[in-house]
Amino acid sequence: MIFGFGSNDDYDDEEEELELVTFQGALNGKKPDVKANGRLMEIGLVPAKEIVSDAMLRRAETVRVETKGSAAVVRLYIDGIAYPGGRLPKQEAHAITQMLKLLAGLNVKQRKARQKGGIKAEFQDTPYQVLVETEPTPAGVERLTIRVRNLKQSVETPDELGFSETMKEKLREMAANRSGVILACGVPGSGTTSTRFGIARSVDAYMYSVYTIGDLESREIPYTTEFEVKEGDDLETTIQRVIRIDADVIFADAMSDAETAKIIFAKQKEIAFISEFAARDTAQGLAKLLEWVGDPQIVVDGLHAIVSQKLLRVLCNDCKQAFRPNPKLLKKVGLPPKTKVLYRPGQPDPEDPEDEPCEVCGGLGYFGRAGMFEMLEMTDGMREAILGGADVAAIKSKMREERMPSFQSEGLRLVAEGRTSLDELQRTFKSK
Ligand SMILES: [Zn+2]
Repeated sequence: MIFGFGSNDDYDDEEEELELVTFQGALNGKKPDVKANGRLMEIGLVPAKEIVSDAMLRRAETVRVETKGSAAVVRLYIDGIAYPGGRLPKQEAHAITQMLKLLAGLNVKQRKARQKGGIKAEFQDTPYQVLVETEPTPAGVERLTIRVRNLKQSVETPDELGFSETMKEKLREMAANRSGVILACGVPGSGTTSTRFGIARSVDAYMYSVYTIGDLESREIPYTTEFEVKEGDDLETTIQRVIRIDADVIFADAMSDAETAKIIFAKQKEIAFISEFAARDTAQGLAKLLEWVGDPQIVVDGLHAIVSQKLLRVLCNDCKQAFRPNPKLLKKVGLPPKTKVLYRPGQPDPEDPEDEPCEVCGGLGYFGRAGMFEMLEMTDGMREAILGGADVAAIKSKMREERMPSFQSEGLRLVAEGRTSLDELQRTFKSK
């Protein structure tokens, strides 16, 4: 349902009007009290729509509005990088904040506590969720964070994520056993949940029945069945119920403690699991898992693989520029000497005043992100190393020895394939 004030028709008489987002109700289901907030609607709605529409148009995932003195500074985050988004008068920033709170079903009068909510929205025929977060600051004004989620893009296929053929093949084989655990891990914000979804989609859903338990956060995995968890059932009972209906794979929520890890590893002989947890990389993840489960034998018997990812920006296909790398550079970064061409972000020719920035990426040179993946596999050699008490460094060197895909090797593959630049790869390694 679109509220009466959500239609864009009202602005048709204005020339060159940017198509604005339509807001379609709060995620928490609360209806805004339009009558009591007439004045706010009048001054806040259009600016709120403009700031959100601009973010969507520029593909920003996050917008921050911070008031300092008499003005508010807007920052946009596109593919994880901050860009200036202009300034607003303090009053307008306040009106936008209050307006978005109202639309998200939050308490407009409460300005001294942190609040979080969301709005259903649509822009250029695409469904979105606009998540709104406000925080009080010592200066007495609220800090506003808007997160924009394109619901059409939230279903990731393994190909879109950048899984290699070998990795997809291996994951398919692992899930075929109807037993064992496959885990995604990463630092928060690095796309771990997307990787977990990608792993699930690598499973041949025509051959195996995959049941999801837990919160899918309004994403979908094709050909999987959502298992309705009975109220009052604990994790163990729920897993038992899924096993009884002849499922092959359970797609579970993130593991956040030792207890959950123990339950999953205790049940993995009867059904395969896909889950995720927080860790820096696969080797650190394995160390954490060993600590959680407590018995290395149980881990080596039950674990198929841990997959971890880092996100890096993908070069814009419309403006990326090819160059011939010099042999010294290739040697220094570890690319094969036969590499003939590499790419860097496109830039307008400074000599040519007619040369405009690229329209596709807005002159950023990058468009979207891809993951680079490392996969720790439970091979015989790895099993032996773990049972022999290998630490994180020894696990890493075992991975190298067995040529398992690592961030280093996968990142260079993306550079060699022309999907990203060397600069971007180096940036990803520098930032944690
Ligand atoms: Zn471009």
